[in-house]
Amino acid sequence: MLHRPPRGRTASAGKAIPLNDLPAEERARRRDRPAAAAPPSPPDARTVSVRRSAAAAHNARPAEERKRAPCGPAPAAEPGAAKTAEPTPPSVASGQGGEVLEVRRVRPDLLRLFIAKPAGLAYTPGQSLRLELEGTRRRYTLASAPHEPHLEFYVEIVPQGRMTSKIARLKAGDRVEIAGAPKGGIAFDESAARHLMLATVTGVNPFVSILRDALHRGRRDLNCVLVHGASHGDEFGYDTELADLARRRPDLLTYIPTVSRPDDPRNAGWQGAKGRAESLVPAVRRRFELPVGETAAYACGHPGMVDNARTALTELGYNVRTEKYD
Ligand SMILES: Cc1cc2nc3c(=O)[nH]c(=O)nc-3n(C[C@H](O)[C@H](O)[C@H](O)COP(=O)(O)OP(=O)(O)OC[C@H]3O[C@@H](n4cnc5c(N)ncnc54)[C@H](O)[C@@H]3O)c2cc1C
Repeated sequence: MLHRPPRGRTASAGKAIPLNDLPAEERARRRDRPAAAAPPSPPDARTVSVRRSAAAAHNARPAEERKRAPCGPAPAAEPGAAKTAEPTPPSVASGQGGEVLEVRRVRPDLLRLFIAKPAGLAYTPGQSLRLELEGTRRRYTLASAPHEPHLEFYVEIVPQGRMTSKIARLKAGDRVEIAGAPKGGIAFDESAARHLMLATVTGVNPFVSILRDALHRGRRDLNCVLVHGASHGDEFGYDTELADLARRRPDLLTYIPTVSRPDDPRNAGWQGAKGRAESLVPAVRRRFELPVGETAAYACGHPGMVDNARTALTELGYNVRTEKYD
């Protein structure tokens, strides 16, 4: 759950920032494994109608193959990676939909949703799509990268939320409508060599997409510092992937997960950074070379964090690109 503080409140930056640290690594690795096959259930009208569908095909693959290529981030393509963006077909028209391939629970109130990509749907990293379920439409930012065969979202289930209560009930084989073309608030600044990215919980989505895309395209000229804030250390749905990437490619990524409620019993044993994402900016700037003229700054997620980050980073002279989840 996103913690919504009073506007303007700041938190202590905490002590030293342990970089590329993954305190709950083993727990997170287990969480990131593909979901175990659900017990067979009687087919309902929807599952019957899609039994030859992509989800069925996905689930019908031999267990070994699913393990090698789960429905999740595409394998890193470093050697011989595509050097340029793939040509993109025209964007999909409104009214298309995709079939749910997998719903992967991170926590009871957080899930990763994988949907088959409709033919012809093209998007750029950082863009969002308006999803529709039973007449309710809401916008969600893609965590998948354009080269991946599926669409991926990281969604927080809001209590009594009209859309997220429906998303929480989704299962493989269901259909999600896509209302309109992709749009993007977080456009990656291709011209900058350095990137300072601030996110809260699901606000990490555009940065996951951007980083997967950079990896796929074999980019060797980018340096990103991603500060990922949450109330609790069990809300970082991509920590295994991002910490692994930071370990393998320290030139590309420094990943700093940080918790804003370090004293909460749910954070017992947390050894990473402490404080809100935006409150770590001064410490991060001291630690890393992020010159204003060479660095693109971004903030995505909780509206309060985005407002605070935009104010603070703009005052420092950065050009800030933002996306608010409101
Ligand atoms: C450009 C854009 C991109 C977005 N991308 C994502 C994304 O990638 N992942 C994601 O999870 N969401 C994302 N959102 C938010 C999403 O569009 C919905 O607003 C959210 O899922 C709640 O929808 P709902 O219908 O379930 O809640 P509603 O029925 O609309 O709201 C129910 C109540 O919950 C409150 N509320 C709404 N969101 C939260 C929250 N996060 N925490 C606490 N209370 C809340 C509302 O103020 C309201 O009082 C994005 C929003 C925008 C504008």
